[in-house]
Amino acid sequence: MNIGAIHVEEDELELYCLGRATSMELAPIERHLLSCPECLSRAQAVLEYIDTLRAALRRLEDEAGK
Ligand SMILES: [Zn+2]
Repeated sequence: MNIGAIHVEEDELELYCLGRATSMELAPIERHLLSCPECLSRAQAVLEYIDTLRAALRRLEDEAGK
């Protein structure tokens, strides 16, 4: 266990998963994810959440587009 390791903030994780992080923000986040399974699984959870959200939006658009 790496004491003092700084985990990725929730909002940074969301920006990263949405592809909105700048290249300056991106590097430390990716470096941390590679060495921290905890944050990696958080990132995967955020990605799944985004996927679910996008699927729901698509469904709404399909229904509205009839
Ligand atoms: Zn972490």
